[in-house]
Amino acid sequence: MQDAFGRSFAYLRLSITDVCNFSCTYCLPDGYKKTIGPGFLKLDEIRRLATVFARLGLWKIRITGGEPTVRRDFTQIVQTLRAVPGIRTLATTTNGYRLREHADAWRAAGLDAINVSIDSLDAKIFHQVTGHDRMHEVQQGIEACLTAGYDSVKLNAVLLKGINDHALGSFLSYIKDRPLSIRFIELMQTGDNAQYFEKYHVPATVIIDQLKQQGWVQKTRELGAGPAVEYLHGDYAGRIGIIAPYSKDFCSTCNRLRVSARGDLHLCLFSETGIGLRHLLQSDDDMDALQAFVEHSLTRKTATHFLHEGLTGGTQKLADIGG
Ligand code: SAM
Ligand code: SF4
Repeated sequence: MQDAFGRSFAYLRLSITDVCNFSCTYCLPDGYKKTIGPGFLKLDEIRRLATVFARLGLWKIRITGGEPTVRRDFTQIVQTLRAVPGIRTLATTTNGYRLREHADAWRAAGLDAINVSIDSLDAKIFHQVTGHDRMHEVQQGIEACLTAGYDSVKLNAVLLKGINDHALGSFLSYIKDRPLSIRFIELMQTGDNAQYFEKYHVPATVIIDQLKQQGWVQKTRELGAGPAVEYLHGDYAGRIGIIAPYSKDFCSTCNRLRVSARGDLHLCLFSETGIGLRHLLQSDDDMDALQAFVEHSLTRKTATHFLHEGLTGGTQKLADIGG
């Protein structure tokens, strides 16, 4: 499946809930507020959706949210997606609060890869950013993933001026002997966080410059890879990834589509609106129609987002679509 700009799509980011138990300062500073509307996608809807996207050639699904693991049927969702023909890689992004207890079970259910958000390795700063004094618990969850045999364990850290932009050293020590990839993500402006963005946004070049000085080398991009540019160093078991959505040409390698927890297709994280798919998710008999509808919708994907102009589309916070 290709769009008008020759980009092909390997990767679906599927949100399964807007709910989150954390209150990260850049995402849900006042915590999750219940919204009215239809419920989140059910198991059968998720199965149909994934089946159709797989038929269209997508082979990697990342389950996201909100916090995806707050769903009681999270393990069943993993099993359901695992059984969809054509899905080769099944990943999730989590704040890690249930990881310590469940890393093994989720691996056994069919999860291949896991990204754990951890903005600081300093317990106090972690608490300040997330609203939860749980850094040690999350770290134990990361260790549990390493022993559970996941194909890939990555850490996500949103770069925040004065909070963790001087902390590269602590992250590097952490990955010296651990085969983890740390992704530094540039803070993105959303509808809700304009003032916060002004105060805390720092370009990823602050990290890239330090990495280069310390002998880290940029790796060539793999097919189906996420948005990160990866760096390697012979002295480290781990890797560093940089996600810099404001960098030139970021959108030219876009290979992903998004579906929200209520079944709206988002052609870009910063689209004005989603395209409702839910009416075509109610019966197996509608799967051909859904396939044609998604193919047609893709013709509306634009070449780039307009974040540089401060236009954040309809995205109020990333917990709404899953980042
Ligand atoms: N709750 C899960 C978590 O935090 O990992 C999954 C959903 S969260 C929206 C996905 C990723 O988006 C997290 O790594 C989070 O740190 C990141 N994120 C949230 N808001 C962001 C923003 N404004 N700019 C950059 N990254 C953001
Ligand atoms: Fe929750 Fe993830 Fe948003 Fe933090 S970034 S508030 S963990 S959805």
